[in-house]
Amino acid sequence: MTLLDLTPRVVNTDRLSTLPVAIIGAGPIGLAAAAHLVERGIDFVVFEAGTDIASSVRSWGHTRLFSPWKHLVDPASRRLLEARGWVLPDPERAPTGRELVEEYVAPLASVDEIAARVRLGVEVVGVSREGMDRTRTRSRAATPFAVRIRIADGEMEDVSARAVIDASGTYLSPNSLSSSGLELLGMADIAGAVAPALPDVLGRDRLRFAHRHTTVVGAGHSAANTLLGLAELARQESGTTVTWLIRNAQAVRVSSSADDELADRARLGSRVDQAVADGRIRVLDGVEIIRGRRAGEGVELVGHRRGEVVTHATDVVVNATGFRPNLDILREIRLELDEIVEAPKRLAPLIDPNVHSCGTVEPHGFRELTHPEQGFFIVGMKSYGRAPTFLLATGYEQVRSVTAWIAGDTASASNVELTLPATGVCSTDLGGGGGCCS
Ligand SMILES: Cc1cc2nc3c(=O)[nH]c(=O)nc-3n(C[C@H](O)[C@H](O)[C@H](O)COP(=O)(O)OP(=O)(O)OC[C@H]3O[C@@H](n4cnc5c(N)ncnc54)[C@H](O)[C@@H]3O)c2cc1C
Repeated sequence: MTLLDLTPRVVNTDRLSTLPVAIIGAGPIGLAAAAHLVERGIDFVVFEAGTDIASSVRSWGHTRLFSPWKHLVDPASRRLLEARGWVLPDPERAPTGRELVEEYVAPLASVDEIAARVRLGVEVVGVSREGMDRTRTRSRAATPFAVRIRIADGEMEDVSARAVIDASGTYLSPNSLSSSGLELLGMADIAGAVAPALPDVLGRDRLRFAHRHTTVVGAGHSAANTLLGLAELARQESGTTVTWLIRNAQAVRVSSSADDELADRARLGSRVDQAVADGRIRVLDGVEIIRGRRAGEGVELVGHRRGEVVTHATDVVVNATGFRPNLDILREIRLELDEIVEAPKRLAPLIDPNVHSCGTVEPHGFRELTHPEQGFFIVGMKSYGRAPTFLLATGYEQVRSVTAWIAGDTASASNVELTLPATGVCSTDLGGGGGCCS
């Protein structure tokens, strides 16, 4: 086995050092990376596909996080904000996603040194090296990155960068409704009846679900949140019904357990259990979905259940099967990913959801996040691939270490520790199974 050389190689500095670091995604982690680069005096540009910062968090903004404020703010970002008079909200209170954006992420994005470098409505559609596809090796590390962006009017351009930090999350790339993981057969026909995870069923999206039959697919906490919202909607609006469709024989991942270390998480499970016991949520377990098709005003999901073919009719489907990283944009980049969870190879054993819960993941930094492509890093939610255990606190330490490495400060980059407490945290579902939090 050859050992990877993790020392930053300073090559062709004249050109590279004049270029900015490209950050993909203006979520909490991308903006934390920006704050660290401000402190280091390194130029950067943040590309955000949404029309506003933190657009993924805004999508599930009605959902309350499990972590209290004291675990949710990046230390470098806090320093920048406090220098401008910002005050940390009640440290013991857990905000909703919307509060997280309004009271912390948006003020951070408004700091002059960051605001001037954020480009909204700009989607990164590919990353490569200037004039080099992934097969070319000679002078690779000395060659600037070429980040291909699509701007609002659809026009494309390539932007040069000295390093790339991919903080694009996973919210925009949900798992498939199909048990095989491949795109569901018939998906194009039923797409209009499929809602993404965590719809705001009691608020913004109410009209879509009231007086209708909704089927929630998935067994994690985002499914649980949606099921509870729909059960409440059914109480308020006649003719609203709810089915919970899961692949496993039982919904064990979300059910409550007396030794759950997170009180709120345990309460969520027991509230779903109660709604099922009361008959407000109908459970259809052991179903492997293979196809969807239109049926009148609604849709049918066709699958296997205990050796038989079953057809389930519904008006709306909520895909709460979890998320996976979008690797398509990284096709020309030399990645080293775990073959199961699709996280960076050295990080994967630390976050294996079969071993670790949200609170037990060790702090880690540039060493675990390094790929054969020098100067390229996946951080934040996306760095965990399909594992459901991501916490903002660990993501903040990731970007502190990675930006220190980019600055050539290997000592600081290597000194990885969690400055924020790491309990009371969470993330999303794993492949139709369960997750820590959403
Ligand atoms: C319901 C829910 C509850 C959670 N609760 C907690 C909690 O209590 N505690 C905790 O620590 N964590 C929690 N998490 C997990 C995690 O902290 C969040 O998912 C967090 O938003 C991850 O931050 P991020 O910056 O990595 O990604 P995101 O917030 O997903 O941000 C990624 C950004 O990148 C943009 N983007 C995507 N693709 C592109 C592209 N190609 N080009 C340009 N921009 C792009 C997106 O529009 C988005 O704005 C929760 C997650 C969910 C879903």
